[in-house]
Amino acid sequence: MLLPRAGGAAGRASPPLAALSQVLRLERSRRTSIVFPLQKLERYLAPGTDTAPFRLFQPGLAALQRAEALFRSDRGHPIDYVSSAVRMDHAPPPALPEVCFIGRSNVGKSSLIRALFSLAPEVEVRVSKTPGHTKKMNFFKVGKYFTLVDMPGYGYRAPQDFVQMVEAYLQERHNLKRTFLLVDGVVGLQKTDHIAVEMLEEFGIPYVMVLTKIDRASRGLLLKNVLEIQEFVKENTQGCFPQLFLVSSVEFSGVHLLRCFVAHVTGNLPTVEAS
Ligand code: GDP
Repeated sequence: MLLPRAGGAAGRASPPLAALSQVLRLERSRRTSIVFPLQKLERYLAPGTDTAPFRLFQPGLAALQRAEALFRSDRGHPIDYVSSAVRMDHAPPPALPEVCFIGRSNVGKSSLIRALFSLAPEVEVRVSKTPGHTKKMNFFKVGKYFTLVDMPGYGYRAPQDFVQMVEAYLQERHNLKRTFLLVDGVVGLQKTDHIAVEMLEEFGIPYVMVLTKIDRASRGLLLKNVLEIQEFVKENTQGCFPQLFLVSSVEFSGVHLLRCFVAHVTGNLPTVEAS
């Protein structure tokens, strides 16, 4: 059984608010904005706005804690970078449930994956890089529970072999449980994001949108982007989960909830009781 323990692995300190125990010490309003950043926006909606998409996935503390334990490495529960692959036949065997993270270069994908794995500081996730440079899929194994794949960032001028690699992965990876499409919370959906959405829709793959860098957007701008994207999801998509996930890798907001959703979609959290 996995039990939460204090502090980071390997004696290294984890960042402030990386652990729920740290968040729980905050006063109530700040705690809500860290754990449920989307819910925090709800009170600023015009009366009569449909709030259902704001609260579809709303786990209680016990579920959040169980999910956090999965992301905390331990001698009996290693979290490791496994390998990188440029082609599907180089990918590790599809033995465990899997999630993948995709998004434009610079959307904040490495930072988010690093934040998710911050309680396993021995896991190395490269953060800064030349845009458009790395074109590899990076596989991380979370104990015997699931794998997480960092897909190469896409952008304009994506080479054809890169597009083929991502398409092949999305179409062929039978253990893929959910794709996390990262969208910049400051600038909202861009042309390349629409291309990614079209691809996911065409393949009929379940996915969820994650709005990044929310600490950089004013409340008004964030609300505008959230409402626009929610409307887009409702009107134009079949496979996208209607609730958006808002994250800041700097402030750690939304990271605990995202860990919980990953645990849930990979079948590692059978019951998600409401908070
Ligand atoms: P990637 O190319 O998608 O992997 O993006 P990175 O994780 O390398 O982030 C791109 C830039 O955005 C870097 O300068 C990061 O420091 C910055 N960044 C990433 N996430 C956040 C965030 O949540 N808040 C803020 N303020 N900056 C972020």
